[in-house]
Parts: sequence; C-alpha cells; structure tokens
Amino acid sequence: MGKVALLKCKPNQIKEKVHKALDLLGGISEYVKKDDMVVIKPNVLCAQDHETGATTSPVLVKAVADMCLNAGAEKVIVAESSNWGIDSMEAMKECGYDKIADGEKIVLMDLKKGEFVKKDIDGLVLKSINIPKVLCDADVVINCPVLKAHTMTKVTIGIKNLSVGISSDEDKQHSLHRIGLYPPLSDEMEKNGSWLDQAICDINSNTNTTLTVVDGIYGLHGKGAPLFGDKINTNLIMASDDRVSIDSVGSKILGHDAMEVHHIRNSYNRGMGEIDLDKIEVVGDKISDFKFDINQSYNTSLNGIPSNVTVINGCKNCKACLSTMTYVLSRHKDEIEKMNIHINVYVGKYFEDKKLPSDRRMHIYYGNCAGSHIYGGGFVPGCPPRSRRQFIQSIGALDIYKQDEGLDTDR
Ligand code: SF4
Repeated sequence: MGKVALLKCKPNQIKEKVHKALDLLGGISEYVKKDDMVVIKPNVLCAQDHETGATTSPVLVKAVADMCLNAGAEKVIVAESSNWGIDSMEAMKECGYDKIADGEKIVLMDLKKGEFVKKDIDGLVLKSINIPKVLCDADVVINCPVLKAHTMTKVTIGIKNLSVGISSDEDKQHSLHRIGLYPPLSDEMEKNGSWLDQAICDINSNTNTTLTVVDGIYGLHGKGAPLFGDKINTNLIMASDDRVSIDSVGSKILGHDAMEVHHIRNSYNRGMGEIDLDKIEVVGDKISDFKFDINQSYNTSLNGIPSNVTVINGCKNCKACLSTMTYVLSRHKDEIEKMNIHINVYVGKYFEDKKLPSDRRMHIYYGNCAGSHIYGGGFVPGCPPRSRRQFIQSIGALDIYKQDEGLDTDR
C-alpha cells in the first residue's frame, strides 16, 4: 500500500509543514543515513520565481536539505537540468537558489554540464538512455517537483520531473520532446499514450527515487502550463516514498484520475508503485479538502484569441506551441485587436495547404517546427518558444508587453 502525507500549507509555513510531512512518513532518518550523499532534484525549468507557480520554492528545498544534513548526510547536491536551451545555473540563481547554497554542505549543480552514464534498457520506446552520473552515485535521491497541468502529458508532478527534467539538452530536443510529434506505430502502442508518455516511464523506471516532496504552494494550470498559464494557490505540501502514489494523489487534485494519465499509468503497470486511491493511505489532510477549478492545459481551443489573428494550425501530436501561443494571444487580446493589421500565425509543421502566403498580412512563424516552413515574415524560435516578449515584439507591439510588465514604454 502506498502512503502519501498531504498537508495544507501557506507560503509562510513551508519549513514547518515539510518537517511534519516527513515525520508522518516515519521521519527523515528512515531514508537518510550518516555520511550519505543526497541529490535533490527541484523543478527549475526556467528562470521564473516560484511565486509564478512554475518552479520549486528554494525555501522548500532548503528545508529538505537541512533535514538531510541534520540526519547525518555528508553533502546535499541540488541538481537541475532546466528546459532545453536554458542555463540551469542561471535559472537557479534567478530563482534564489544561490542563497540556499553554501558551497560546501549544500551545492548547486547543472546536470547538463555533468557526466552522463549511457544505459541500455528494455523500454517501451527507448532502448538506451543517458542518466546523470551524480544520480547513479547518490545514496539518496529526493525529487521536489511542482504541481502543474501540462499541455502534452496532462500533469507534471514527480515522475515527469525525474525523467525529462534530468536529461541533457540533446536528449530533450531529439529523443524526448520531438518524439511527441510521432504517431503511434500500433494500436497496442497507442494504448500507452504518446511516445513522450512512454519515454517518461522508460527513463523514470531506470532512475532511483528515495522520496518525492511536492511543492504545491502554487501550481500552474490553463493554456500555456507548465511554462506560462495561470497561477493557482493550491497551498499544499505532499511527501511519499511511492512515486506513483504521490503522482496519483496529485493528479486527482489537478482533476484527473491517474489511470487516464498515460505516464503515471505506464509507471503503475511497470510495478513502480500504487495508483489506486483506495489502496493509498493518505495521512494528514484529506484529498477532498483540496477542490480547485482546474483549466486543463491541453485545451488548445482558439477561443479567446484576437479577432484580427488567423492561426494556421499545422500541429498534430505536439500541442506545446499551440498552447503557449494561444495563452499569449488571449492574454493580450484587447490590445492586439486595437492594432490596425491582420496577423497570420503559423504553428506546427504539418500544413495541409503549402501555398505560400500571397496576401499582405503580417506573417509570424511560431516555434521551430513552423520555422522550417518560413517564407518571409517574423520567426519566434523555441520548442516551444519561451519568451512572451519575443512573440509580442515579433508583431511590432513591444509596448503592449512593456505596459503589461509595468516597464518604461519610452525606452
Ligand atoms: S516546435 Fe512546437 S510544435 Fe514543434 S515539437 Fe517543439 S513545441 Fe512541439
């Protein structure tokens, strides 16, 4: 039976509640022994403060690290591999992690710059993977994800954080994210979800996890999550030594039966933990104490975008660009409608009508897939693009962004 500690937690109660959650599991000394080398993996996918709901709070990571050191650990390494193209160390510094590191007992590490160990595996879709050596060498691995909706995988909690979130930039780009574009090769394969859903399970099932401690103080949902989207004050902390159970409880809070979340169900089917809420002991507060109106991130409907924007949609299996693009357009709907121009935005790569644009509208190619079709107009690079500013700037309306951010529009 899986056991999950679930506690209400206000932003000023993090330390106290992390202690309580781990005590409910039997205490940190159940997991950390004298002289252990501990790796903590937060979710710092980008340089957005944890109050945006995108990243793990450094206060939570420090609370966990201090508990490990007090239990006798020799050293705690806070290790991150941020989103593709992002400098993990810079992202951690921007998010305040430099203030919790002392360079001796608690150190920061950019996994992308460390050594990787290649493992041959019998995965659902992957036959070899690259795991950071520091994770193979660690005595204890503590996963500290955030609770978020996700465009492609419905949710991202612990299992996803310790799969895509530990991979090199090259693997993220070529073996993981892009395979979300491929159609399944058989009915049997389709039952397990997208290639990405299966690859997540392949990597995570070959990665040690001693504990998962979820930062659910703030979460993200709606279009654009897990990068943009709307912050939600979920005000909770969770902890468990069963990675499937904690994701199952987290999914329920985010509005999903975990059996419908492919990467969690695949992990359960592989014997990695318990998924059935009737067989999971939830201690502390009850799941029913947490009721939120969640807007799912995979909802990529074009409702709410400005009326003077036409989206030429070439997306099939990967909807990440569509999700972030509709988020930005919806957020600035009124201001963009006031612009005296019609804008065509191309997204994805499977355009049925490959005719070249012949009208005099503004043409923007959003994301690397669309960029491979570019014929004049602007290009917003990224997979998916991560800069709201760059998109707004590409349509010649930087002032809209500056006003929204409270920046000086004269500069
Ligand atoms: S560029 Fe956009 S649509 Fe293409 S794989 Fe990346 S996120 Fe998906």
